[in-house]
Amino acid sequence: MLFVFLPPMMSRAGIVLDYSGDTFFANNPTAKAALEAAAADVNAAIDFSCLGVVTDDVITGTNGGSSVDFTFSKTYINPADGVTTQVPSTQIVAGQINVFAGARTFGGNTLGEGSAGGTGLGLGITDASDGSLAGAYANAEALEQHSRGGGPIVLSASGSFGGNSFAFNQGLHTGSIAFDDDSNWHFDHTTAVAAGLNDFYSVALHELLHVVGFGTSASWQSLISGTDYLGAEGIAANGGTGVGLADSSGHFAMGVMSPRISDGVLQEVAMDADITVGTRKYLTELDLAVMRDLGLKTVVASAVPEPSSLAFLALCGAAFCGRRRGLVT
Ligand SMILES: [Zn+2]
Repeated sequence: MLFVFLPPMMSRAGIVLDYSGDTFFANNPTAKAALEAAAADVNAAIDFSCLGVVTDDVITGTNGGSSVDFTFSKTYINPADGVTTQVPSTQIVAGQINVFAGARTFGGNTLGEGSAGGTGLGLGITDASDGSLAGAYANAEALEQHSRGGGPIVLSASGSFGGNSFAFNQGLHTGSIAFDDDSNWHFDHTTAVAAGLNDFYSVALHELLHVVGFGTSASWQSLISGTDYLGAEGIAANGGTGVGLADSSGHFAMGVMSPRISDGVLQEVAMDADITVGTRKYLTELDLAVMRDLGLKTVVASAVPEPSSLAFLALCGAAFCGRRRGLVT
């Protein structure tokens, strides 16, 4: 008998896109390719392997005859209609974030929307005669699984019930990304952005960083003071000073510049609140510095493949295309 020893899978799955319920991408394969390319670039630049496995919607702590249940219901914003929707199961593979993708009609100049998932928590007690021990056991297990052991804390919850107390942190689990279905899009991420069109790849990149906590997490909020971002990695990447914010919506101020990770050329960051029509943006050092502040590792720049259409950007700078800008929320 022949035995073959296989090395362990060294997969860094990161963002995994889910198109269930979507019709937009089914009818726009070029747009889907651009979204997939943006997700691949995020997964190449950010290491999500610290995120632990989630196996249980219901976590029960027992002690003697006492029992306490924590029942989690994870939610996401359905990209097709904007309705908060419960995830069928919160089971999540280690290192993975499940992201629902779709499109709907946004008002105004809004091009897209990215959001991290939410959490509902139900608490149940069967016989609390042990004081709070059963609850403490349940809380410890809930904290271990649903914080995912690392990365951004999306939200924190604490309180008390029936003599028990709970305090847990929700990590990244599920999110959603939605695009405006009637904007003037340039879908093809392998060609230069045509004049007068909004670049789908750039908006996808921007919204995916929101999905993984940029501007959407408790960890982000903890690093904000007034209109300044004060995360240590962000300060370091910004020449030693805090980074100005656009508003309270989780964006850098318009026009903040940083070197692209692919080639070091200065570019407006991906994570300010808008994009110049007719241009494309890629990840910059400052965008990734925030992800380190949020608890994720980032991959060295040399490991990130250079985008194939980078050369076109220089041909279509902001001055050339004007400053008519589309909002990305
Ligand atoms: Zn945004």
